[in-house]
Amino acid sequence: MSPTSNPDRQDAALAESLRDKSAALAAALRRIVAEWRPAVFASSLGAEDMVITDVIVREHLPIEIFSLDTGRLPAETYDLMHEIQQRYGLKLKLYYPRNDLIEAYTRENGINAFYDSIELRKACCHIRKVEPLQRALANRKAWITGMRAQQAATRDGLPLQQYDETNQLEKFNPLSDWTEQEVWAYIRANDVPYNKLHDRFYPSIGCAPCTRAISLGEDVRAGRWWWEDPTGKECGLHVNNPNVMSISR
Ligand code: SF4
Repeated sequence: MSPTSNPDRQDAALAESLRDKSAALAAALRRIVAEWRPAVFASSLGAEDMVITDVIVREHLPIEIFSLDTGRLPAETYDLMHEIQQRYGLKLKLYYPRNDLIEAYTRENGINAFYDSIELRKACCHIRKVEPLQRALANRKAWITGMRAQQAATRDGLPLQQYDETNQLEKFNPLSDWTEQEVWAYIRANDVPYNKLHDRFYPSIGCAPCTRAISLGEDVRAGRWWWEDPTGKECGLHVNNPNVMSISR
């Protein structure tokens, strides 16, 4: 039996990497607070975002945590928002789409027009996500995301820190080098609340009509905008990764 096939050694190696990465994450967040205040954390309420939320709360860091309520989120995501409030006593800041833009879009194109073309899908993402994000990031020095490099072809080579040209502020991806296994090990070890859709084969969760469960062996992002080309399907929230081929999340 090779050293890496020994389950006890695998557990010990995972525990050690988790210890190191958790300490590095806390240190990175403290540094962001010290050097880039005011900084905000854009939580998509995914598993990764819950790890960062837990560390921010544990460390009592003055980082505002916000989410984008697109109006089309799954019920399980709203349940998680409630659980976060109960568990951490956290008042999650929610940003909503502009009602005038939504009303014009649905009147012109219909309620589910995002299935009709990539242009209409991106227009919906712009109204429901990008424009509210721009408001959330206004007058901030830095924003933090829960993105990992391994999450998708569009995130390969994702740096820990980069300048966000579009929104004109520093952007940090402190989980960039975390594995999915490490994220879940952290969640289990610290009893962190998470979206129950993850237990039903939804590794990546967005709006309800644009997210489906994946099958064994499929890419973790395969359930997002599954009808589009996988190399370019992001939603416009993350545009300056050089490997992202179109507007992205
Ligand atoms: S993910 Fe789908 S419903 Fe949500 S903003 Fe984008 S296109 Fe619209």
